[in-house]
Amino acid sequence: MSEEIEQLDCLIIGSGPAGYTAAIYAARASMNPVMYMGLQPGGQLTTTNEVENFPGYPEGVTGPQMMVELQQQAERFDTDVRHGWVTKVDFSGATHKVWVDEKKEIHAKTVIIATGASAKYLGLESEQKYLELGGGVSACAVCDGFFYKGQEVVVVGAGDSACEEAHYLSKLCTKVTMLVRRDQFRASKIMEARVRNTENIEILTNTSTQEVLGDGNVVTGVSAKNTETGEVKEIPATGFFVAIGHQPNTEVFKPYVELDEVGYIINQQPGTSKTNVAGVFVAGDAADKDYRQAVTAAGTGCMAALDAERYLAALGH
Ligand code: NDP
Repeated sequence: MSEEIEQLDCLIIGSGPAGYTAAIYAARASMNPVMYMGLQPGGQLTTTNEVENFPGYPEGVTGPQMMVELQQQAERFDTDVRHGWVTKVDFSGATHKVWVDEKKEIHAKTVIIATGASAKYLGLESEQKYLELGGGVSACAVCDGFFYKGQEVVVVGAGDSACEEAHYLSKLCTKVTMLVRRDQFRASKIMEARVRNTENIEILTNTSTQEVLGDGNVVTGVSAKNTETGEVKEIPATGFFVAIGHQPNTEVFKPYVELDEVGYIINQQPGTSKTNVAGVFVAGDAADKDYRQAVTAAGTGCMAALDAERYLAALGH
């Protein structure tokens, strides 16, 4: 038997810094928000070790601890934080219908999408092992680069992200090796020129990653293969940065919410959190391919809650 339909003023989907910040603002505005945390409660930050660039933490904080504190802050104002995964939506009418775990049906006046994006990884067993150990595999140079100061690192990828990460790391590290799988970059010419003109960045084209090498705890190097010559070489490195793109977690909204060709939600009015669906707002990385920082996600979470509050006020709430 299906459960009774639940009526809400504000539903928040996703539990990263965007979702929690939206929850704090919405709860304090008496919108009684309900949050569904998704498959990875806390979002991408739970895969980061130390967060040192979020204002207000002078000593830094671990990603998981920060998410626990954000949850506590949201719950302090009575946000109803729940486990669950949104499996279907119907945004065709004035009431936004959302199904959680295929069975529970919710009708919400406002919906804040804060489902984030997932970094893509190569999928090598050794890569996943050191990622899980927190031992030298990362998908965010701005987050983790500092820990490799004065060391040698490898970046895989050849898009704008890879170039940006390699250039950022070149200022911290003694040497950055970029592994480019084809004989050309995908990045814009200006970004490519920037890495090519940086002395301590070595670019290896036609090169694929064979294995991430390590001592069982931390990364010690990368085994790379030249796909033209078949030559395999070991590159000493303490950090392995994967920059082969992100996938926004927006598939479920696709029939109703306008997405770009990659899947990022398009802001209908730049500078707001509005989507093409009235009453549906977006915050964080689900709409952001450029900044992708916890603090920018939090900022847009605040915007989404304020936009939702104004939308409800216009409805006479
Ligand atoms: P892209 O999809 O543009 O590039 C991904 C890169 O990773 C490509 O070079 C691709 O190689 C490579 N790649 C993919 N899979 C593998 C694999 N299995 N092994 C090795 N290499 C692989 O993603 P980005 O994140 O770089 O950029 C996404 C979007 O964001 C772009 O539109 C970009 O312009 C934008 N962006 C803009 C920035 C800025 O302007 N400051 C900064 C960052 C991103 P191949 O080319 O062979 O397919």
